[in-house]
Amino acid sequence: MILPGQTIGIVGGGQLGRMFAIAARRMGYRVHTLDPTPDGPTGQVADVEITADYDDIPAAEAFARGVDVVTFEFENVPSQTLAAIEKIRPVHPSPFVLDTTRHRLREKDFLSSIGVPVAPYRPIGNIDELTRAMAELGTPAVLKTAEFGYDGKGQSKIDSPALAAAAWEKLACPVGVLEGFVSFEREISVIVARGQGGDVRTFDVFENEHVRHILDVTTVDSKPTPGLPAKLRERATELARMIAMKLDLVGLLCVEMFVTGSGEVIVNELAPRPHNSGHVTIDACVTSQFEQQLRAVCGLPLGDTTLLRPAAMANLLGDIWLDAQTKSSGGGPRWERAMVDPFVKLHLYGKTQAKPGRKMGHLTAVGTDVAEARARVSEARRRLID
Ligand code: AMP
Repeated sequence: MILPGQTIGIVGGGQLGRMFAIAARRMGYRVHTLDPTPDGPTGQVADVEITADYDDIPAAEAFARGVDVVTFEFENVPSQTLAAIEKIRPVHPSPFVLDTTRHRLREKDFLSSIGVPVAPYRPIGNIDELTRAMAELGTPAVLKTAEFGYDGKGQSKIDSPALAAAAWEKLACPVGVLEGFVSFEREISVIVARGQGGDVRTFDVFENEHVRHILDVTTVDSKPTPGLPAKLRERATELARMIAMKLDLVGLLCVEMFVTGSGEVIVNELAPRPHNSGHVTIDACVTSQFEQQLRAVCGLPLGDTTLLRPAAMANLLGDIWLDAQTKSSGGGPRWERAMVDPFVKLHLYGKTQAKPGRKMGHLTAVGTDVAEARARVSEARRRLID
């Protein structure tokens, strides 16, 4: 067991690491982070920030020697680096979990092998394979890179076979995956934690709305709704628990899923770390996803995941900063206006450069129901640039 006063190492220095570090420091832990960019969101709140490329093995070894246990907020770390760290300190989740989930093909093969429903898919290594796969899966279809994709980057929807060659060229990667298009009714996610003793806890089901493939708003309610009836919630939760157990997970895992019109649940993607859809847990649950990750990787008992009130989260992308600049008032987003509603909570990640689509922060609010919570964050976000 790693106890308060000891040191956690987190690989990756973005906002997920920042919120993890805040949770860890609140509980009296020390935090070291490893990331290629200095003064990052995690580095700003960690005790020690090591700036080194992820393939710098001596730096990764020095980082490992300085901590008691290592976890991640970023999956795309070279296997050799992980292996070097693991020789020195325990790593949770395990390199096996990271290797499986950071590669779409390995991830889908794994999910299929344990009987989890996924969209029909084919591995793609060249244009001939893509042409054949398109004939088998039909159109539209979605072509994705096997590695390094996020927020809709590294993927394109192909509406007709004639567009396949251009899509493959644009993807510009050695291995891709073609997926059948799922005409889903909703996108949901379940965050599951598994402790070192095998205890498993899930949060309530999050409902996610994307804009241009980037998460825009998440809502969560513990009560069944016509759109997410109890049976569907149970099915989604059961799948997440099963995946965590089959992966022999120690840590946190987010399972992103599609819900079809006929109530089928199809798993889209796994992320073995805290997830954007779970940010709402900081202000709305007994235990946040970040504290839960900490408890799991430290071997502590897991925390209660009860949702205290219906809640919503709205992402703040760099576009808001850029929009604010072009408004007559000049300056940046009008934070004081967003916080006129006393239920609205502001989270900013300490990023200095705003870019379109870049996640800079988020707003959360609770309400008497999801509609009220959602209206609060949407309204507050609108007021930032009014
Ligand atoms: P991903 O990068 O796999 O998380 O995909 C980003 C978003 O693209 C998802 O949240 C969906 O909105 C959409 N998407 C991805 N794969 C599919 C699919 N097979 N069918 C329909 N929409 C998809």
